[in-house]
Amino acid sequence: MIICTNIVSLQKAITKYVKEHKNIGFVPTMGALHDGHLSLIKQSNYQQNITICSIFVNPTQFNDPTDFEKYPKTIEQDLQLLEATNCAIVFLPTVTEIYPKGLQNHKQYDLGFLELSLEGSTRPGHFQGVCLVVERLLEIVQPNFLYLGQKDYQQCMVITKLVKLMQLENKINIQIGATVRETNGLAMSSRNLRLNESQKKDAAQIFQLLTFIKKNIETISINELIAFTEKKLIENNFDKIDYITICNATNLQPITSFDANTKTIALIAAFIGGVRLIDNLLLN
Ligand code: AMP
Repeated sequence: MIICTNIVSLQKAITKYVKEHKNIGFVPTMGALHDGHLSLIKQSNYQQNITICSIFVNPTQFNDPTDFEKYPKTIEQDLQLLEATNCAIVFLPTVTEIYPKGLQNHKQYDLGFLELSLEGSTRPGHFQGVCLVVERLLEIVQPNFLYLGQKDYQQCMVITKLVKLMQLENKINIQIGATVRETNGLAMSSRNLRLNESQKKDAAQIFQLLTFIKKNIETISINELIAFTEKKLIENNFDKIDYITICNATNLQPITSFDANTKTIALIAAFIGGVRLIDNLLLN
């Protein structure tokens, strides 16, 4: 595995694959890797000629400075996992390499409704930061295939929009991998490292409630399902709920009644032990 800490060495490592028109799969991450990330690496390895993984905790996407400071860093272990997963190249850029002009006064992306709803409204500026880093990484890596996880459903929609705004939709094919879960259903997340065992057990309620919504969406009203989910999360030691919503999965507009012919998704963001967790489930 080749480890590149700057753009020059990364581009040198990629040159021969570009010259030979090999398919490059790219998995951007913020590290503290788990099986969710590794599933994307494996999918890319299987489908493409070469896989590049980046690890960069992007300061511009954290609206909460404490969340940024506390973001888990396990770089030695990450490298071992990537090596064991046959990742060919790891890109570990510094902040200056990604943001040579500093962290302020960047351009704004027109994300429309995506920026006003759910993660957009509860984490102001978050998606602007995501777009900044992803645009920069795509310019540097120039992949043919970009691997993202469904766990961050709205982020997948934002990045799809970004790729269109960059007019790269014919050059970059976005692949979305299924959410990988712990055996109790808790979606794997780097932030889970900040939970103790009892919080991890309670946190699994998110998936159990999403599953309950999916089972009952045709028979119980959406308002009742949301009220029940909220009550259960509070009973199970969640400190705060950012949202529980059922939306049209293609535009994230909330719906009030279920139509089996319309792609529908339930999404939850809630805090437990001060850690913000998100998850989602397609309902049809
Ligand atoms: P992150 O390091 O949290 O920025 O995530 C990097 C990529 O891994 C993103 O595309 C995530 O959606 C994806 N990812 C994170 N957690 C999971 C999971 N549990 N299952 C599948 N993909 C995931």
